[in-house]
Amino acid sequence: MSNPGSKLALTLLAHPDDAEILCAGTLIRLKESGWQIHIATLTPGDCGTMTENRWDISSIRTKEATAAASMIGATYHCLDERDGMVVFDKPTIQKAVDLFRRVAPRLVFTHAAKDYMLDHEQTSLLARSASFLYGAPNISAHPLLPGSHIPHLYYCDPVEAIDPFGNPVTPTTTIDITAQMETKTRMLASHASQREWLRAHHGMDEYLDAMRRHAQLRGTLIDTTYAEAFIQHRGHAYPRNDILAETFPLANSP
Ligand SMILES: [Zn+2]
Repeated sequence: MSNPGSKLALTLLAHPDDAEILCAGTLIRLKESGWQIHIATLTPGDCGTMTENRWDISSIRTKEATAAASMIGATYHCLDERDGMVVFDKPTIQKAVDLFRRVAPRLVFTHAAKDYMLDHEQTSLLARSASFLYGAPNISAHPLLPGSHIPHLYYCDPVEAIDPFGNPVTPTTTIDITAQMETKTRMLASHASQREWLRAHHGMDEYLDAMRRHAQLRGTLIDTTYAEAFIQHRGHAYPRNDILAETFPLANSP
């Protein structure tokens, strides 16, 4: 049984802005329902630039991620790995486990197991590993908080909702975020360093437009304007009830 009563959600994603693109609408809805939100990234986004050095861009993007998180009263964490170098190894598993130990999440979001870049896939493995093990007393030096059990685990959509071979993925859970779209967009827009270089490169506001197109695509699944989609992990020992579908059973509109 997983953390009865606690309302703590954690996203463990690779890069600053992944949460805003993939699951912020659902995080906003959770916040509105009284959940406490933690947004963690593996890296500070040190390669997300054409002009800055890695230290300056890391500082800029950490501020952007913190500002986005603060819009919904969320806490931002960074595990300080490097872009393009996220690996599933012992030290990084330990970092992820220690983060889970400090937060004791009941609900976890991570990347799709198969996604367009390997930082995402490795992060997915790290989240899966940490979620399974963090409640074992000997796995971390951090104290075991009450409610440290295997959480509900959801995989966000892969980018463009396709696997690396181009096949569309089928979600288990689709959440209406139409009423949250404005706040989600503001959260994503706070990542100004990313928005600006895409805008310069594409000659249009591709950063926000791509997010909006994806939410529209998922909205068609449940006949609403905007949605986010997930696949729930339902392996041995994990809670199998769909806590998101239970919390948000229908579209926002009556
Ligand atoms: Zn990413």
